Amino acid sequence: MLKEILSNEVCAKCKICCTFDRYDVWETPLLTRVNVERIFSINPDIKFIKKDNSYSFKINELNDDELFYCPMLDHNKGCILGDEKPFDCRIWPYRIMNLNGKRVIAISPICKEVYNHPLGMLVDFLKNELLDKITTYANTFPEAVKPYDNLYPILYVED
Ligand code: SF4
Repeated sequence: MLKEILSNEVCAKCKICCTFDRYDVWETPLLTRVNVERIFSINPDIKFIKKDNSYSFKINELNDDELFYCPMLDHNKGCILGDEKPFDCRIWPYRIMNLNGKRVIAISPICKEVYNHPLGMLVDFLKNELLDKITTYANTFPEAVKPYDNLYPILYVED
């Protein structure tokens, strides 16, 4: 979904969005039933937690220097799921968040590649290509709206 601003080659080399420490473990993707069935068909040993209408990976408490690698990450090839990635992964580093009761769309500060583009272009891309899809997704899965983190620059505030 973000091919215009993030190339597959750059993402395949980086993989930072598929690796989580104890502070950004909340960034692990929300999984729909379809995602879970697909992941289960690849590896039936993976455990999930159900939350409202969706799921997330079951992750044990991490120590300070411990990392959680998404179980769908192949360290050589990237995401095993290909075009069947969870929605959160398809729109990352864009994130929908709740700031004082308002939904905002912000952008993760850790994706260096995306910051090679002017902020205005990232806002235009959001409005033209992503906004409707993100809004529909957040309406269907309100649990996808994460509490606002003030390290994330805000690109859009919902009316
Ligand atoms: S599902 Fe794929 S893209 Fe999403 S975090 Fe896991 S490996 Fe990365």
